[in-house]
Amino acid sequence: MKVFGVVGWKNSGKTGLMERLVAEISGRGFTVSTVKHAHHNVDVDQPGKDSYRHREAGAVEVVLASRKRWAMMHEHRGAPETELEELLTKMAPVNLVLVEGYKRHNHPKVEAHRTETGKDLLAREDRTVRAVASNAQPDGLPVPVLNLDDTSGIADFILSETGLSDTPSATPDIAPPKRLKNDCFALPPGVNWTPVDDALDRLRDSLAPVVGTEVIPSHTALGRVLAAAPEAARANPPAPNSAVDGYGFSHASIGSGAQTLPLVNGRAAAGAPFKGSVPDGMAIRILTGAVIPPGVDTVVLEEDVTLGEGHIAFDAGLKPGANTRRAGEDVDAGTELFEPGHRLRAPDLALLAATGLAEVSVYRTLRIGVLSTGDELAAPGSTMDLGRTYDANRPMLLALAAGWHAQPVDLGHAPDDRDALRKILDRAVDEVDIILTSGGASAGDEDHMSAILQDEGSLAAWRIALKPGRPLALGQWQNVPVFGLPGNPVAALVCALIFARPAVSVLGGGRWLTPTATTLPAAFGKAKKAGRREFLRARRTETGEVDVFKSEGSGRISGLSWADGLVELPDPAQDIVPGTSVNFIPYTELFSL
Ligand code: AMP
Ligand code: MG
Repeated sequence: MKVFGVVGWKNSGKTGLMERLVAEISGRGFTVSTVKHAHHNVDVDQPGKDSYRHREAGAVEVVLASRKRWAMMHEHRGAPETELEELLTKMAPVNLVLVEGYKRHNHPKVEAHRTETGKDLLAREDRTVRAVASNAQPDGLPVPVLNLDDTSGIADFILSETGLSDTPSATPDIAPPKRLKNDCFALPPGVNWTPVDDALDRLRDSLAPVVGTEVIPSHTALGRVLAAAPEAARANPPAPNSAVDGYGFSHASIGSGAQTLPLVNGRAAAGAPFKGSVPDGMAIRILTGAVIPPGVDTVVLEEDVTLGEGHIAFDAGLKPGANTRRAGEDVDAGTELFEPGHRLRAPDLALLAATGLAEVSVYRTLRIGVLSTGDELAAPGSTMDLGRTYDANRPMLLALAAGWHAQPVDLGHAPDDRDALRKILDRAVDEVDIILTSGGASAGDEDHMSAILQDEGSLAAWRIALKPGRPLALGQWQNVPVFGLPGNPVAALVCALIFARPAVSVLGGGRWLTPTATTLPAAFGKAKKAGRREFLRARRTETGEVDVFKSEGSGRISGLSWADGLVELPDPAQDIVPGTSVNFIPYTELFSL
């Protein structure tokens, strides 16, 4: 978010200017918000109003909301007044925040000025004032003077100062989400068992991002997916600098062989550049990271120098430019740093910061609702009834969602009852971008999830040639994609990792994800049948092989936890004996731990 201020003495016309600027700049397609610093006896609240009574009674914050607008009132209650910077963090992201008042804060400003006020201009002393908008032509100002009535010219000035281009970018700060096609999960007719790779291809082709975009401070963007390609705002390094502690000089000004160069007074250090230039034939003390001063192009390491009184001696033989870093040698200004769809990692935040990008355009965080279905389910700790099954899938799937950089939303547990399920789904669509359900996904009498999607939403029941896993119910409820996973926790996990993970990435604006498998010798034997993909709960041994869980029983949840990954056996038949190479996908490839 860019911030620009409007200041001025009383009656200088600053509020009128604010008003015209908001209209002008929003009229050009930018989103604009404002902050107004008011006199202490201006109050949004009024005695006798309900909100006033809540505040007077001691509420920490009062939100006053109506159909027209809402406002949050926060009482200082003796604490110091909230700084502008903190107030800005509470605002919704927009292209530009125009601030009226807050003269003493160091954001850039335009000063409104009318000769009638008889006051002298702030701009004469205050370096944060970048221009004056006046009804006259005051003399001797260090900044441009604009015509107070030329709103369009003042808007141009502010947009260029804040680096907002003349036309809003194709990706506005807040872009609305898109919708998937209603039949996006449909399978071709007549398909019986779909091979895993076909199912993945089909899924990949049918999905698109379902979240809008927003512009956020780069340092808060860890794990977020870029919606637009950021371009380096400046080069890294921005100026040539020294790569070592040593002495700098002009290479062309010295000869070959032993050199003795007199030292200039002063030095160049990182953050404390040398103000003058270094004459030919002289040297300057220079430290790592210091900007190379004019007159210097080469640095000799301090270890290679004999320091005398006011001079240095060393053997020439350095190449021109030795021990210096060229401006932009790492990144040139304007370089496209990443492609859209890239998920930002810790080192990426360093690159954004180093190239001057305080903000990035990202997809909104995908909200993943997780719902368990089945009359038999109960929360652990809630009952000792042996007829009930503790809900194991919900915490697992919520944790996966968090590990996929999404926002997990707990939709609770639905009984096997269509009306109850409908109510939950109807409510969920306002709160989430995608729903992961488990249980009830087959075509049996008690499989209400697939039934309700079939009758009232849209459903494609995918029968995938996969073990463990039964049909995957893919559908939509009021345009929100629903992933109906099998109820069995082993199958639910495998289907979530193999199918939901890459799908969730694409729905959130990211890339399709294919886990990288490592080939390891098997520590087990197995005669695998043809015609389906199999995933086995597996773990690396200390001797570098991979072993599988003692039982392939689909109810064995302990095996999921015993494992540190999955062995993936290809579709054809295979006779595996100890030593056979198999593909192992570590859990770390499938979710963040
Ligand atoms: P379903 O797909 O609903 O027929 O469920 C298949 C099996 O998984 C049944 O034994 C269910 O009790 C079990 N199951 C379903 N949901 C869960 C859950 N959330 N946690 C643990 N087991 C479950
Ligand atoms: Mg069930």
